Amino acid sequence: MRLGELGEFKLIDRIKQQAGLNPDVIRGIGDDAAELKIPAGHHLLTSTDLLIEEVHFRFAWTDGERLGRKAVAVNLSDLAAMGATPRFLYLGLSCPADSELERVEGLLRGVLAECERFGVSLVGGDTCCSPGPWILSVVVEGSAPDGRSVGRNGGRPDDLLMVSGTLGDSALGLSLLQKGKVVPPLLLQRHLAPTPRVALGQALASAGLASAMIDISDGLAADLGHLLRAGRLDAELDLASLPLSTEFAGQYRSNPSLIDLALHGGEDYELLFSVAEDAAPTVERLAAELAVPVSRIGRLKAGSGAIDLREADGQLHPVTADGFDHFASRVGDQP
Ligand code: ADP
Ligand code: MG
Repeated sequence: MRLGELGEFKLIDRIKQQAGLNPDVIRGIGDDAAELKIPAGHHLLTSTDLLIEEVHFRFAWTDGERLGRKAVAVNLSDLAAMGATPRFLYLGLSCPADSELERVEGLLRGVLAECERFGVSLVGGDTCCSPGPWILSVVVEGSAPDGRSVGRNGGRPDDLLMVSGTLGDSALGLSLLQKGKVVPPLLLQRHLAPTPRVALGQALASAGLASAMIDISDGLAADLGHLLRAGRLDAELDLASLPLSTEFAGQYRSNPSLIDLALHGGEDYELLFSVAEDAAPTVERLAAELAVPVSRIGRLKAGSGAIDLREADGQLHPVTADGFDHFASRVGDQP
């Protein structure tokens, strides 16, 4: 069946039926606005991301369900980077009238599954017909105790820089897809179904361990650049400390230029954060309890946004803080 045969309101009814109930949702789907509760003493944190067909995803490479999961995950990653607890989500959905209902239902399944995984309620959205590409616009809301959220601007000279997980997998997965090559399952999963580091972000924030934090969506160098400019800092990174997956490292050994993907490739959705040096062991213990790998990759200095990379020759080499820019994309870049 096509979406056009079902119609907007029957689709919204289906979404409402599947969205479930939650005591914090006073009014959810079905009214003119959602009415929601957040815990006393908490502040509201909100974030939004667009996903556009042929810019952010292709149905040749993904399906409705994985797309739905990713649309939620990339939004939750932004809240994780503030140390917030995600609570509510809104789904703006625009797709052509001749879209297969099965694909739309798959998308919903993915959205709801990822919401459930992180204790988030789908409380509203908007649905309209697109004359062309699919467009998903997701808004996520969360909360953090007053004074406990972590911004990009709190880094201090001599703080250590740490990152969760591994770098460059998503960009390498995408580049293999674009070349029509075989993509190792981990790289494919890292590109099509990233895991937001929600528990780690919350734990770092509630323990007051991270001085500054950002999620890596545009590439390590670009997102580190944001953190540095916000804090009037420079950074020194250590090439040998950049965490790489076995799959990435295997290809990197025969193609050293792939390091550009670890530095500038987007969509890692890992957390990059700074910590006082004496707090680093506590961070490592906490991350181990959450089964999230973390690595020390460098250090902050007073400055104005410059990044230097210590390479195998022991020398420091400047790294440009560029990554993906939607309006100034370079050949080979990806969102
Ligand atoms: P309005 O015309 O007042 O904007 P709509 O008919 O667009 O109302 O939406 C009716 C209800 O359904 C609202 O609560 C809205 O938040 C919800 N809704 C609409 N589209 C979606 C969607 N794609 N996902 C979740 N909720 C939706
Ligand atoms: Mg509406």
